[in-house]
Amino acid sequence: MIEKLNVVKFGGSSVKNSFWSALKLVDYLLEGGRLVVVVSALRGVTEKLIRLSEWPDWRAFESIVLEHSRIADRLGADIDPILSDLEKAVARRRYDPVWRDYILSFGERFSAVLFAKALENEGISAFPVDATEVLRLRGNFGNAEIDFSASLPHVRKLGELAERSVPVVTGFIGNLNGKTATLGRGGSDYTASAIGAMLDARAVLIMSDVKGIYTADPRLVPDARLFHFLARDRAVLAARLGMKALHPRTIEPLRGIPLILGKTEDWCLGTLVSEFGDDWPIVVHRVEGEIVRIAVVGVEELPGWEGRRGEGYFSLTVEREELVPVLREIHEVVFDEGTGSCNYSQLRAWV
Ligand code: ASP
Ligand code: MG
Repeated sequence: MIEKLNVVKFGGSSVKNSFWSALKLVDYLLEGGRLVVVVSALRGVTEKLIRLSEWPDWRAFESIVLEHSRIADRLGADIDPILSDLEKAVARRRYDPVWRDYILSFGERFSAVLFAKALENEGISAFPVDATEVLRLRGNFGNAEIDFSASLPHVRKLGELAERSVPVVTGFIGNLNGKTATLGRGGSDYTASAIGAMLDARAVLIMSDVKGIYTADPRLVPDARLFHFLARDRAVLAARLGMKALHPRTIEPLRGIPLILGKTEDWCLGTLVSEFGDDWPIVVHRVEGEIVRIAVVGVEELPGWEGRRGEGYFSLTVEREELVPVLREIHEVVFDEGTGSCNYSQLRAWV
């Protein structure tokens, strides 16, 4: 019997700013058995590629070349073939969804080659994998879905290869009818969970620059609390309603496989998503042009606030400039006045 395997995904800020910690974490995880690594594009690169797909923004192109070449030179990695493919693709401007997805795929291609080379330099045998060779997709360009049964034989093969060497897989992309397609923004999480599900992984780790999932976006709400345990249903609903910590399709395939979120820099594993969790609400938001939709997952009404009652959440709409104060106020109401189930009076009654 072959030993169990973990899947670890590193987000764009990890690959850009916490490279060393990420490499060391891989080394550590390998002590526990086989490992498949999934990487996102370096932070900011997908945004530049999006600009490049909208108009011939050669400044964005130059900055992508420069940023990756610097790292490649330092590591002794060869990214010239990818650079020349990108240049050719940009010159062949078509402005359709197929071409656009192809352009967007380059960030992850660079990352996989660089990360695999960095592991090799550390004495860890590794090889880059272009996910278009492994993951079969269906649906639409720009937001494709993974076809599990069609991908399974290829992913199994990857699991076998992981016995000898660490596959470093491009997140976010796959093969849709022979063409490169993307899984939607933030899709590398979904790549990792899908591979984890197909290989019956021991756990799927999503490593980024935050410790895990909070009761609101901690960059906007300083009082937000970190979930140590989060129930999958609540996480799925929160992701669907705008929580950015996870791509909305990530959890669904992981039946019974724990999903762990953590911070690469200090290896802090902050949140475990599984069947059960802390019964706290989550305040999430989604920007839609000049307005923002806020939803409080886990609460169906918010006394004093006008909004809409949904199944398992309460939602309201505010102007964009009101976002931060409203988020903070709602978070305070939910957590201090006990509208949610982190109700201290409940606890007091219980003791
Ligand atoms: N690089 C892609 C994005 O920025 C995918 C990801 O980061 O997961 O959306
Ligand atoms: Mg992400």
